[in-house]
Amino acid sequence: MGSRRALVTGLTGQDGSFLAELLLEKGYQVTGLIRRAPDAHLGCAEHLRGEVGLLAGDLLVPDSLTEAVAAAGAHELYHLAAPSYVPDSWQQPAKTVAAIAGATATLLEAVRDYSRQTRVFIAASGAMFGAAPESPQREQTPCQPQNPYATAKLAAHQLVGQLRAHDSIFACSGILFNHESERRPESFVPRKIARAAAAIKLGMADAVTLGDLAASRDWSFAGDVIRGAWLMLQQDRPGDYILASGVSHTVAQLAETAFAHVGLDARDHIRVDPTLVRAPESTRQLGDPGHAHQRLGWMPTLTFEQLIGRMVDFDLRALQGSGTAT
Ligand code: NDP
Repeated sequence: MGSRRALVTGLTGQDGSFLAELLLEKGYQVTGLIRRAPDAHLGCAEHLRGEVGLLAGDLLVPDSLTEAVAAAGAHELYHLAAPSYVPDSWQQPAKTVAAIAGATATLLEAVRDYSRQTRVFIAASGAMFGAAPESPQREQTPCQPQNPYATAKLAAHQLVGQLRAHDSIFACSGILFNHESERRPESFVPRKIARAAAAIKLGMADAVTLGDLAASRDWSFAGDVIRGAWLMLQQDRPGDYILASGVSHTVAQLAETAFAHVGLDARDHIRVDPTLVRAPESTRQLGDPGHAHQRLGWMPTLTFEQLIGRMVDFDLRALQGSGTAT
């Protein structure tokens, strides 16, 4: 059997780069769909240059997606690209919906019409549960999204189920709760804290400014989550699965863990800026990964503590190498 071909959108992001590494290890031919010029820096996937093919495509240009799906003739399509920073969705709700829901519809339609053998994974989000009536959330929990990003992800998720039923395509939705790594930008609080703990340990900074310390999330390791995405496409039948740790931690606990990892007490180094505090959430964001455990045999390899430790260690090495705290 020749090697399997995978098309990955969002190659240059956190998840796309981990997924491409996993697929290459498994012997796939990997093509990444990118919106930047092929000779521009490939972001998180720059180290894979030469090992992956590249195709041009922009979520906001539907024809570019259709052409890529038809040209790639992939066995598996992993749709990870999205404007993924939730606060931005308030500035550009129309663009957010087009880039997430619109692009998902285009990709599913393209697979149906031009590449029916392609199995499709779509990255939905635990954010779509919003003010859901229960916690932890399961695949069947009713959704009450609270921002344009979450609304768009819910639409993408529902489109997967609808085209799967109506057009018999092999499409899966991964309802992903927060997942992190050293490849996250510092605009996301876990990386901000990990970087700060490393910088303070090295004497390059003395404090980190945070918002609501009581806010909680269900955090996993990105490398584990994308393995769950791959597992979904290896099943006999398509389905939707929550990928989450099933444990929630507060921002304060995250900071305690990060600072303790380098022998410091977080309380000595945290400043709270009330302007960074968002409105409290009525429902705790927490996923129940039971379905994925049972059906996919998916289990995380890193605990919360190991994940945060990995991130802090990375930043210690990076800062020692660069000699700068930026
Ligand atoms: P990143 O922000 O790291 O990566 C996003 C990717 O999408 C980048 O490759 C980016 O390209 C690409 N992209 C954004 N806009 C466009 C566009 N208009 N056209 C083409 N490509 C575009 O996100 P993650 O890797 O963390 O997340 C992967 C997916 O999982 C996303 O869909 C996200 O919404 C979802 N998700 C992530 C969670 C998490 O905690 N990480 C939680 C729940 C869901 P470029 O580099 O050019 O900007």
